[in-house]
Amino acid sequence: MAITKTQGIVLKYTNLGEADKILTILTRNKGKIKAVAKGCRKPKSSLLASSELFAFSEFVLYKGANLYQISQADTRETFYNLRNDLLKLSYAVFFVEMADAVSEEELSSERLFLLLAKTLYYLAEGEIPIGIINEAYQLKLMDISGYRPSLQRCVHCGKNEVKEYKFDIEMGGVICSECEKFGKNVIRISPGTLETIRILLNTEISRLNTLKIDNTIFNEIDRLVKRFVETHLDKHFKSLDFLNEIKNSKQ
Ligand SMILES: [Zn+2]
Repeated sequence: MAITKTQGIVLKYTNLGEADKILTILTRNKGKIKAVAKGCRKPKSSLLASSELFAFSEFVLYKGANLYQISQADTRETFYNLRNDLLKLSYAVFFVEMADAVSEEELSSERLFLLLAKTLYYLAEGEIPIGIINEAYQLKLMDISGYRPSLQRCVHCGKNEVKEYKFDIEMGGVICSECEKFGKNVIRISPGTLETIRILLNTEISRLNTLKIDNTIFNEIDRLVKRFVETHLDKHFKSLDFLNEIKNSKQ
């Protein structure tokens, strides 16, 4: 029987029978997998903590007929702080839903795994503003998924040095004034926005604690990222509706 050892983060689960769960886990080595955690809902189960949403564990798995079975799990991080704060919790749910949407079963993406792990860590820790974590996570996730925004050359004609700052959402990059007429979904952005997107894409999340973004630029980035993700992933995130409700109720 093939035994696999891998780190993994629980993206979602469904209860099974009296005491079991089927977990959807984003693993470091094997992409996304489904695994049965037998007896994990019993209070004394050794799999109790590692079967919770967001839990980061070292798993020992073996492949059953259809699904993996978890034979052992060593929990590294439960991100407990996320559960004490409804706003952070809502972001975390959104982040795992996005990771679930772009990951594929048994197709390894260590970059995506590490991005999610670090993002949850810094979200729980609270040193970096949540808004910055949110934009950085989505931009990096899009990059990993093959949709890196093109920020230098015009996405239509490939000319260098775009002076007029406009962004074509459909084509996924900046567009020059000559090509603007070909764009279908073009928004104006300021040079500061472009530069900040570059920083968010190229800087490790851990180093974003010193970044300051003024409100106008932040709002431009937020609008661009939202439309960019919607257009290219073509998916409605249920967790985003809830997140917006929480944000509105706090204003
Ligand atoms: Zn052009």
